[in-house]
Amino acid sequence: MKAKVNKEICIGCGVCVLICPEVFQIKDDGLAHVIVGIIPEKFKSSTIETEKTCFVGAISHEN
Ligand code: SF4
Repeated sequence: MKAKVNKEICIGCGVCVLICPEVFQIKDDGLAHVIVGIIPEKFKSSTIETEKTCFVGAISHEN
């Protein structure tokens, strides 16, 4: 599974980083970035949780 952040939509609130810092990080541009390629099994559910929690809908994933 891979995750993606749509930078056109992300507002840099940091909620995804709070939920799953192993996968998301706020970088110098003030926006969230996915910092891993393939999401490790143990972080899959929290990654999906970020997708549901991001209130602007900027996070998506593909299997
Ligand atoms: Fe961006 Fe959504 Fe993460 Fe907030 S929760 S930083 S809007 S991707």
